[in-house]
Amino acid sequence: NAQSRPLAAVVVGDVDHGKSTLIGRLLYDTGSLDSERMSDLESSIGAGGPDFARVMDALAEERRDRITVDTAQTFFSSAVRDYVLIDVPGHREFIRNMVTGATKADLAVAIVDVERGMGDQTMRHLAILNMIGVQRWVVVVNKMDLPGQGEKTFETVAASVRALAKRLGSEVAALIPVSAVRGDNVVHPSSDVNWYRGPSLLAALDAESVPGERRGTACMPVQDSYDMDGTPVRVGRMLSGSVTAGTRLRVEPGGGEVEVAHVVRFPEGVVERAEPGESVGLVLAGDASIRRGDVLADAPLRVESSVRVRMASLCEKPLRIGETFTMRIGHQEMECTLGELTRRVVFGGEIMVVDENPGRAVFFGDIVVGNMMARNPVAFLPFAQCPELGRLVLERGGEAVAVGVVE
Ligand code: GDP
Repeated sequence: NAQSRPLAAVVVGDVDHGKSTLIGRLLYDTGSLDSERMSDLESSIGAGGPDFARVMDALAEERRDRITVDTAQTFFSSAVRDYVLIDVPGHREFIRNMVTGATKADLAVAIVDVERGMGDQTMRHLAILNMIGVQRWVVVVNKMDLPGQGEKTFETVAASVRALAKRLGSEVAALIPVSAVRGDNVVHPSSDVNWYRGPSLLAALDAESVPGERRGTACMPVQDSYDMDGTPVRVGRMLSGSVTAGTRLRVEPGGGEVEVAHVVRFPEGVVERAEPGESVGLVLAGDASIRRGDVLADAPLRVESSVRVRMASLCEKPLRIGETFTMRIGHQEMECTLGELTRRVVFGGEIMVVDENPGRAVFFGDIVVGNMMARNPVAFLPFAQCPELGRLVLERGGEAVAVGVVE
């Protein structure tokens, strides 16, 4: 399907639940490995079958040479479309990548070992993904080949997955019993797991759709202002909607109004319109005092100095009520104070506990709901409407200490 971008799935799973084996199996069974890797894999076939985790280790080593980010991306294709699987090993790296939008996922693939049940890290990561709007899960229950595993144990794990999804407000698109080692229900249906009538993992992924570009409200956070032959040009990315010469835009959080004189794209020069997702320059008639951080929009934004946020801490040193931080939303950067906390989500064992008496500090790994009070008004939109203007990063002494979304 040439017109759509790849579907991006973030893969979550606790250590040893079989993530590497599953990804290796998916690549092998879709014929996505080159011949050298194929024969390497085939030569590793012992009593237990090929060692897929070994292929993944080799791929990981190659990636280390090529990229510096802490995210592994694996590409493969089915008959329906292209895929990118995103695997972020560390907890800290996971939060940072997901919430800052460095990596964008359309859905989550969660791996749960049928013997152990849903892991702590998996639940935590699904909760964070839920928070940033990745609310569809394809869940594989792995190691169904182990002795004693069957419909009954699968259903027990499935029930706990459904319960967590319900609690968080996520949707389980598919729950699939698989054996990554044997390849049951990964790409090919299994005849051993004969009580299961649903799709394989690949079939479940193929049934998903790739979201298109966002139309609607024209919205551009100003990233910078350049001088082009004496004319100021405001540059930034059109997060949604489009503008042409003549479009009237509000300037938030200040509340001014301007009109688009020309749209400029680099290196072409003046173009007719700025489309959603494009980085463009706007020459504006009207208010000349527009700065980096201002947001141009053709519909009202929320402008407040107290913002209710849901956030996850990234820092060993606790964040305390009354403490001052630098908050970034879009290209806005402002001083703000952590006000009251109203809720804390704690994970332990197979449970997720919501504590309505969260205390006065946020500890590493906590997800909390609280208030941030800014010196000056902030322009934003609810995350569900515009992720870029609905998420925030908190910094202390130049270090990112928490990431979150505007509630
Ligand atoms: P990761 O840490 O999640 O990447 O897990 P690995 O893919 O390295 O697998 C962890 C262990 O579980 C390895 O010993 C695998 O061989 C084993 N394993 C993975 N998938 C299966 C499976 O479907 N069945 C069985 N029996 N073992 C599996």
